[in-house]
Amino acid sequence: MFKKILIFLVMFMATLQATQTQVVILLGPPGAGKGSQASLIKEKMEIAHISTGDLLRENIKQGTTLGQKAKTYMDAGHLVPDELIFDMLFARVAQPDCQKGYILDGFPRNIPQAEALQKRLADAQVTAISLSIPDAEIVDRITNRQICKSCQTPYNLVHSRPKKEGICDKCGGTLYQRSDDTKEVVEERLKVYHEQTAPLISFYTNQKALHTVDSTAPKEAVLQQILSVLGRR
Ligand SMILES: [Zn+2]
Repeated sequence: MFKKILIFLVMFMATLQATQTQVVILLGPPGAGKGSQASLIKEKMEIAHISTGDLLRENIKQGTTLGQKAKTYMDAGHLVPDELIFDMLFARVAQPDCQKGYILDGFPRNIPQAEALQKRLADAQVTAISLSIPDAEIVDRITNRQICKSCQTPYNLVHSRPKKEGICDKCGGTLYQRSDDTKEVVEERLKVYHEQTAPLISFYTNQKALHTVDSTAPKEAVLQQILSVLGRR
């Protein structure tokens, strides 16, 4: 009898584990490679990639009820309230492609958002991955960054130069530098990041959900570190 109950329990736990949604939260300063790692993880693990910035733009473009609400705030020059972002996020993650799991890129940005998210993710398996990189390297990366006008592929004039100057290797499009990719702007963004987002590292450490990855390594090596973290848990 006892043995039967035990077998049942083990099977029950196994099913629970298999159906548990895996939520990957990518943390790191602007320019740490969150966006490109997110697309690589998405591809390898076949889970969805959600950027709340894209989600907001998409809702507004499609004129959803939530999008219209957000637009009234933006038109008035206000920030879109967290509550509205959460509604968009949870409408999105209710879709079938998020059942197995999803990556959150650029969210949460501060402790109140993280706390609210944690409450709503009670049943999910949350892994926070911190892409660690020194500020000086961020400044170097961003001020040397050029982006393709057509396909948005990023290049770096020091680390990943295009084969032909000013021309995209992939599509032949023209490369340009974003007007806000200057040292002053980057340093200001890093300051804001350290004040608001860096406390999330302590938050997820306390949740025993944090893993730090060395993001100065080449893209493929960073991905391998992330995959081993996700596979290990
Ligand atoms: Zn291109």
